[in-house]
Amino acid sequence: MKNAAKVAFPIPKSEYYYYKTPRSLKSTLKLGHRVLVPIGKRKSIGYVIGFGTPPEDIKLKEILDVLDEYPLFDKKRMSFFKWVSDYYMAPIGLILKAAHPGGLGLNLNKVVKITGHGKALLGSGTLDIVQLQILKALSESSLTISKLLELIEGTTNTVLNKLISRNLVEIDYALNKKSFVKTERFISTSAKCANKELMSVFSKRRPAKAKILEFILNNENVPYEDLKGVFGNVSGHIKWLSENGYIDVAFKEIIRDPYSRLQISNEKPPTLNIDQQMCLKEIGKAIAAKTYSPFLLHGVTGSGKTEVYLHSIQKALDEGRQALVLVPEISLTPQLVGRFKQRFGSAIAVLHSGISDSQRFDSWRHIRGGKIKIAIGARSSVFAPFNNPGIIIVDEEHEQSYKQEESPHYNARDMALVLGKIYESVVILGSATPSVETYSNTLKEKIRYLGLPLRATKSTLPEVEIIDLKKENNKVISERLKEELILNFESKNQSIVFLNRRGFSSVLVCRACGEAVECPNCSIALTYHKTGNSIKCHYCGLNESRFGRCFRCGDKLMEYGIGTQKIEEEIKKILPRAVVARMDRDEVRGKNGLLNLYNRLQGNEIDILIGTQMVAKGHDLPGVTLVGVISADMSLSIPDFRAGERTFQLITQVAGRAGRGEKKGKVLIQTLNPENSVIEFAARQDSVNFLKTELKLRSALGYPPFTRLINVKFTGKRENEVSATARLTRSLASKILGRFPLDSIKILGPSEAPLFKIKNKYRWQLLIKSENQNEIHKFMRGLQKAIRLADFPTNVVVSVDVDPLSFN
Ligand code: ADP
Ligand code: ZN
Repeated sequence: MKNAAKVAFPIPKSEYYYYKTPRSLKSTLKLGHRVLVPIGKRKSIGYVIGFGTPPEDIKLKEILDVLDEYPLFDKKRMSFFKWVSDYYMAPIGLILKAAHPGGLGLNLNKVVKITGHGKALLGSGTLDIVQLQILKALSESSLTISKLLELIEGTTNTVLNKLISRNLVEIDYALNKKSFVKTERFISTSAKCANKELMSVFSKRRPAKAKILEFILNNENVPYEDLKGVFGNVSGHIKWLSENGYIDVAFKEIIRDPYSRLQISNEKPPTLNIDQQMCLKEIGKAIAAKTYSPFLLHGVTGSGKTEVYLHSIQKALDEGRQALVLVPEISLTPQLVGRFKQRFGSAIAVLHSGISDSQRFDSWRHIRGGKIKIAIGARSSVFAPFNNPGIIIVDEEHEQSYKQEESPHYNARDMALVLGKIYESVVILGSATPSVETYSNTLKEKIRYLGLPLRATKSTLPEVEIIDLKKENNKVISERLKEELILNFESKNQSIVFLNRRGFSSVLVCRACGEAVECPNCSIALTYHKTGNSIKCHYCGLNESRFGRCFRCGDKLMEYGIGTQKIEEEIKKILPRAVVARMDRDEVRGKNGLLNLYNRLQGNEIDILIGTQMVAKGHDLPGVTLVGVISADMSLSIPDFRAGERTFQLITQVAGRAGRGEKKGKVLIQTLNPENSVIEFAARQDSVNFLKTELKLRSALGYPPFTRLINVKFTGKRENEVSATARLTRSLASKILGRFPLDSIKILGPSEAPLFKIKNKYRWQLLIKSENQNEIHKFMRGLQKAIRLADFPTNVVVSVDVDPLSFN
């Protein structure tokens, strides 16, 4: 049997199954179609990912139906999905599901259906009242189980099971096709209205209708809603005019625009400065060349990167191509969207987690159909179905939010580069604080470096002062910061107080030397566990309960941890009259939470903003002239080799919020480690030298980008099952290790994950490390196969995180 269809399902276990195409569907069925197929006793929706020859010994089932009018993807797109599936070691079905959010209006409902036998028995007396009622209801139409439970009192699963076992009803699967297409009535005049004589008689005889007709004539193709707006209730008139052949009524699809009420400024865009022009020239050449050309656009905060993006997009559009812009979810502000709409009009799709399924569906179809040429969105929009993207932009490329922390664990930043390779596009990774990986790629000449070293407006970078907290008797707010906060409030300027709370669990810090206690094997801060009073390493599993004093100098250790509420209290003591607001995940909830806070800040209603990571993100707040960093060190000591990089990025970004307007900004950084090079580099906003130093360190310690990591995660409700599975996997891994060159693969752990228990589930992890990407993938493939064959408890979930960004 040749050319059977390969059908993939969005389930974690399998890749795909083969199905036979019935003669009736042969001419319709294509790659990229969704199909309805039988699987076991049920039916399911699957994606056709290709055609091929199945193994000879299996008996194929037939495809029941083709569900899409047009295929969802073509061969080229498929090669992208395939890459993502291979690289991130996730079944293709899960990737396809991620790429087609919300099922694009297609769902399968489990329903209960009456059988022939059931129908025959309807009149007889062998049924009790509940059974009879159920059968009666089902004889009219099949119903979902929940509907039955709701409709007929006394229905239980036991009752239903009894009916099923007596073959009176059966379970079936009904397709639920939601139509998301929104249409509106458009009205135009007919040929009859061109007859002048007729019209002049008409206007005398029926003046009201003639007025409406005149309006339609002058505005051709008028939406019905507009007529209602002008003339009030016109339904009777429209009906009459239509019936008498004066007008034509047509239904046309409209594109919903969730940002339609956005105020768009009509300010003239600035003329690019010399640096921006240089960057644009390089990008422009690459766009004209129509080949894969990746760039890093490294520009300090406020250097005008977005301006360069906007011009580059225009160039790609001029070439008849499309543009995809990825931004971290949090920076999808109306401000940014407004800037894009101002330049490119309304044919832009904005994709984020807050939009409805129907809006998403609209965008998806119009991108695929070519009506929409620009999409801006968070990580998952890397799947936007453009057929000819000429430019792909990843703004704030260093942001961790490009990585999906649940399965499939993909990284949209890295996928953007692959997408660019497949579609021969320009890819711009932009940041004020590039990631170590991206910077390292510029040194290897895999990515070209473009720099914007100065702020675009007249404003200069802020002045930075480092405050040694050890001399301040460990006060939350130092005397210097207090002084500046008062001064800034009195001069009616705004301040930001930033709490670096990236560490999730406590660490122990030495009172004397300010260093966090580190693991002797791993160069990673140990986490302090109050329960059990022990320190642990989440890389190698070290667990120490006798510690007491600093390994280095022998002084006393203290637990480290403060919250935003505590800071708010302190500030209110210092400045009781100031309006203080908090921006953190607990405070800023819902769709409009951030927007409201943002508007209050812009309207100068807030004097002091206290916040965590959220305040560091790309906000442009010209009124802010002072930024205080409460504790620069906190994120330095989290148990992660990227701690230094994250700290540098956070401090540099938050410092960049100061002095973006006319007045010069000031930044005060409180720290227990004033001599720490990360803090010093951040204070100088010196990315390049930070990156160079960090690269040396990573190389010496054997961390990415010099090695590749894969984190195998184990999650389950029973602690002993989870740990046993992790240990069993380790022993499987050790066996496979024998097939690889000595020392080419290292296995670390297994150990408890730093967040050992989340929502009552226990978590363990096993880290695989190698200098060779091919080897580590080969190894992991072998391990995955061994895991599939091993008889693991089914309630422990094993997931594979390739290039992990966090080790929580
Ligand atoms: P970034 O994306 O690097 O943070 P933006 O593009 O948002 O920078 O620019 C920061 C500010 O500078 C914005 O208010 C922008 O309008 C302004 N700007 C950008 N380029 C120029 C320029 N060439 N001349 C004057 N102002 C500019
Ligand atoms: Zn360790």
